[in-house]
Amino acid sequence: NNTLSDKVNSLETSATLAMAAKARELKSQGKDIIGLSLGEPDFNTPQFIKDAAKQAIDENYHAYTPVDGYADLKKSIQQKFKRDNNLDYQPSQIVVSTGAKQSLYNVANAILNPGDEVVLPCPYWVSYRDIVQLTGAKAIEVSTSLETDFKMTAEQLEQAISPNTKMLWYSSPCNPSGSVYSEKELRALAEVLKKHPQIVVVSDEIYEHINFSEEKFSMAEIDFMKERTVTVNGVSKAYSMTGWRIGYIGAPEYIAKACTKLQGQVTSGANCIAQRAVIAALDAPISEIKFMIDKFKERRKLVLDLVEDIKGFTSNVPEGAFYVFPNVSDFFGKTIGKHEINNASDFSLFLLEVANVATVTGEAFGNPNCIRISYAASEVDIKEAFKRIKLALT
Ligand code: PLP
Repeated sequence: NNTLSDKVNSLETSATLAMAAKARELKSQGKDIIGLSLGEPDFNTPQFIKDAAKQAIDENYHAYTPVDGYADLKKSIQQKFKRDNNLDYQPSQIVVSTGAKQSLYNVANAILNPGDEVVLPCPYWVSYRDIVQLTGAKAIEVSTSLETDFKMTAEQLEQAISPNTKMLWYSSPCNPSGSVYSEKELRALAEVLKKHPQIVVVSDEIYEHINFSEEKFSMAEIDFMKERTVTVNGVSKAYSMTGWRIGYIGAPEYIAKACTKLQGQVTSGANCIAQRAVIAALDAPISEIKFMIDKFKERRKLVLDLVEDIKGFTSNVPEGAFYVFPNVSDFFGKTIGKHEINNASDFSLFLLEVANVATVTGEAFGNPNCIRISYAASEVDIKEAFKRIKLALT
């Protein structure tokens, strides 16, 4: 469309949201679709958080909020970083935004110029590539595979870096692969980065609490990396608050200031009621949300057993988040019924149309051989979905 900007014309519609929309459309036509495409916990927000929001309304919170977040929320975030991540961030290094997605968008736009390069280990979360593209910078995709548990090695990082590299951007636990970088692996990446002081690291830790491994380490815990790492987090996943839209960063002060400046021209401060609720969420002990994490762990076992039962699916054991990311390339080049399968997108569409199960193609995450299946769904739905997938493939 000539009226629209080149920026928008070149942008992809978020694949996860597009799949959810397609599933909704089929549902409205009367099809019984099981949605395993979205990264959205199926729990209600815990009662004590809802109570804090109600109280905020009754206390007449209504006015514009400080652009970078309420001071007492930033205090809670400061304590959270100390408690959970052993990180000391001053309030001046913290910015609250309308979801971690806005935090990431702010950081990218605060740092990147056209022509800069961003190292993105694949698979990455869908929006990274498009946010990079919006800035005019270039994504340098680094492929990984099942053999390295979908993690980028130090050698791969070394090879991907050029004089134009400005940023390394990853999530751990990873959406979509569930992989968690260990302290040892992060230290190895940091040793490479030591030689390239112009590179800023964006560490997206939004799945921090949905981590079933013993590994729990942040890039910013490494002394010489703290001054050039942005730690991104939020409440959407662990607190089942996706629609409340609160995310935040801990960052070097000059980056935090730049994000605040940018946000001040776009959305201003995040929603007042949601911010009050998040204070209650972050101040509560982690034990308050453990029931959800335990449930995800049970479902992971269920899903891995079901994946193993399907001939042609091979998966890593995801250590965190709530997705499995099986390789389905065994089916490429085959025809099942009327459906010709040549890539992961064909396969995902086949599952939607024939099994009536919504998943997301790995192509959206920079991996053309896999599909992402979310297990943030009820056990009944998960079992039924795999029954249908198995039937569709036989
Ligand atoms: N980062 C990752 C890796 C995610 O999976 C998501 C949500 O799907 C986000 C960030 C965005 O989270 P929020 O809801 O806080 O914007």
